[in-house]
Amino acid sequence: SAYVVGLTGGIGSGKTTVADRLVALGATLVDTDAIAHELTAPGGAAMPALVAAFGPAVADAHGALDRAAMRRLAFADAAARGRLEAILHPRIRELADARCRAAPSPYVVLAVPLLVESGAYRARCDRILVVDCPESLQVARVMARSGLGADEVQAILAAQASRAARLAIADDVVVNDGELAALAGRLEELHRKYQSLAMQKLK
Ligand code: ATP
Repeated sequence: SAYVVGLTGGIGSGKTTVADRLVALGATLVDTDAIAHELTAPGGAAMPALVAAFGPAVADAHGALDRAAMRRLAFADAAARGRLEAILHPRIRELADARCRAAPSPYVVLAVPLLVESGAYRARCDRILVVDCPESLQVARVMARSGLGADEVQAILAAQASRAARLAIADDVVVNDGELAALAGRLEELHRKYQSLAMQKLK
């Protein structure tokens, strides 16, 4: 199985930007958020179980998860949230594992937004890459992208693992606090390092 680089970072830190760049250099991306969306798209593999557990109202007219309806159910009710996670999480992990195993490249970038919180994913990683930037930049980027207010973005940040907790699990850190162009050299360096670590693991 491929060498697995776990990728994480707070909201708006630049995870997607970093993952896209490593893919352009030749890495394979396995993205747990994207897998969650696939599983809950029209005809998605988790939809029958979700409808059985929560009723037909959690599916929209196309058979995809009605995210707003599901959020209302799960937000109000910790038991419902637990059932939702019990349906989704094992399926996400199974697909992520299969894609890591099938990866054609020497190493895989396994993007897990909540890597700090999830020991199951940490155990799958040979190495952890954290995208880091000051919280003020996270807030500014997310506000610019989403139209949320500063207070709303602050609340999301407060609910996530702290910057210090993420840095504490990092083997490598990409500091994304300047021009995007400034990341190119650092990411080429990390790409070469991961390729070489992957080769050593194969031996
Ligand atoms: P999320 O957790 O919300 O999915 P993310 O960590 O994947 O976010 P990105 O989507 O890569 O972060 O970046 C968030 C936003 O900030 C995007 O609109 C992106 O284009 C922008 N951005 C990221 N890095 C920089 C940078 N160095 N300079 C300017 N804009 C940036």
